[in-house]
Amino acid sequence: MTITGEMLIGFSSVRGNEGEQRAFNPATHSEIAEPVFGMGGVAEVGRAASLAAQAFDVYRNAPLAKRAAFLEAIADNILDLGDELIERAHAETGLPLQRLQGERARTVGQLRLFAQVVRDGHFLGSTIDHAQPERQPLPRADLRLAKVPVGPVAVFGASNFPLAFSVAGGDTASALAAGAPVVVKAHSAHLGTSKLVGCAIQKAVKENGLPEGTFSLLFGSGRTLGEALVSHPAVKAVGFTGSRQGGLALLRIANARAEPIPVYAEMSSINPVFLFPAALENRAEAIGRAFVDSLTMGAGQFCTNPGLVLAVDGAGLDRFVQAASEALTTRPAQTMLTPGIFDAYCAGTRNVDAVEGVEKVAQGQPAGERANAAQAALYVTDAQRLLNSPELEAEMFGPASVVIRARNVDELLEVAEHIEGQLTVTLQIDAADHADAQRLLPVLERKAGRILANGFPTGVEVCHAMVHGGPFPSTSNAMFTSVGATAIDRFLRPVCYQDLPDALLPDALKERNPLGVWRFVDGEKTAPAQTAN
Ligand code: NAP
Repeated sequence: MTITGEMLIGFSSVRGNEGEQRAFNPATHSEIAEPVFGMGGVAEVGRAASLAAQAFDVYRNAPLAKRAAFLEAIADNILDLGDELIERAHAETGLPLQRLQGERARTVGQLRLFAQVVRDGHFLGSTIDHAQPERQPLPRADLRLAKVPVGPVAVFGASNFPLAFSVAGGDTASALAAGAPVVVKAHSAHLGTSKLVGCAIQKAVKENGLPEGTFSLLFGSGRTLGEALVSHPAVKAVGFTGSRQGGLALLRIANARAEPIPVYAEMSSINPVFLFPAALENRAEAIGRAFVDSLTMGAGQFCTNPGLVLAVDGAGLDRFVQAASEALTTRPAQTMLTPGIFDAYCAGTRNVDAVEGVEKVAQGQPAGERANAAQAALYVTDAQRLLNSPELEAEMFGPASVVIRARNVDELLEVAEHIEGQLTVTLQIDAADHADAQRLLPVLERKAGRILANGFPTGVEVCHAMVHGGPFPSTSNAMFTSVGATAIDRFLRPVCYQDLPDALLPDALKERNPLGVWRFVDGEKTAPAQTAN
């Protein structure tokens, strides 16, 4: 497919005239000649958002089977793009081909998971409390709850997952699954990839006879087009993955609207890893090597990258640092996604270098002449230094991590209380560590969205039980996840129907259960067969 520089607004190809941009190859540090993308602005936002508003009632009321088929068609159309998609993403991001193939599989799997979620209907939360006309002293009305989509959703594609968290990524898939039309602001770090995937979605909209405003793809700057999108009255929620500064900017815009709307921003996390004494004594070297694998994977450009390691000082921790240092020094420098992200990584490591009392114990292979290639780094300091140096807690977003030596478990607890909200916290524990870990768990439950044992946080499974969220600043709303089946809940709200005639109720709540979904009826979980007739 020839990639052209036009946006997709419903079924129209629209060339923006708010400036031009070429995609950029970070590995060669040069522009990709073709095509020239026309950037959009306020007018294009208005057009896409209005179409989305027009599409909303038609799309959300389409049969669930059709909505599910649409999600599966997007998955099929992405696969049909073949190697062209992978090669374009590779050129625009510097990510290895194999990683991108894996990411495509995740993207397609995610769309299919949401198709299952839609067919299953459990997400509707159908709940019925039958009327109790005889109740004393007052009768009870017939009350029925089901969830409806919030309205059109704006999605900001993430730079670090050009497929799985971008145009057809988790935010888009969960919003479309909820019944919400989507307007995507493409990340400028992978415009061609975005266009290819956008065409795959647009094709699926047409194939399934859905209204054209179901999906639009816009190119433009965050500060003009992005701001206009979040401000548009037709937009009712926002999904975002990126920097803390970017997420907070969108949150401020959303809160300043005449009608404030939720922004589900996934921003900044350093994913602490706690190493407990028995685990260190039994397997310090193996933990050290596995830690470096996790730290350097994808040039460390993961929201779940383990940027902080904490342990009680002693021989076990020395052995961990030794093994991790030896592993790290062999790791090649890796191309980062954009020159801006590379510069931010270098600035972050410089800030840590400048903190007195922090020792850089190991570095990866230098980049040499290669552009935008991050050299891995490992630092060591003590717990008091961490408690008094905010620089050590800032996300470095790259292959660098700080090891903290604590005097005892009490000091580990103090640090755990001190750290900001996190997407993940990891425990390396053996049986003899369980009592100490038990002391830490109540604190960690307050701090993180996912607590894992004897693994590493990178590699987020897309499934029903996943939580990829957490207290601020890891996200702007700790009550939800942006990965996994329940990500759909971000774009739904409950409506209660009181005494409505059966014919006027949504199918999810009609007495004979025409959708055949699980329901909560008069306080009992009720299987489809029991209520269908
Ligand atoms: P970013 O700068 O936050 O940009 C993400 C998206 O938001 C882009 O489309 C951007 O548009 C838009 N945006 C940013 N600031 C905005 C504002 N003030 N108003 C409106 N829109 C705005 O993130 P990035 O470019 O992907 O990476 C930069 C840094 O973010 C990284 O170095 C890293 O520290 C962090 N990051 C974190 C994660 C994570 O998962 N935790 C993931 C990716 C990046 P424009 O490009 O047009 O500005």
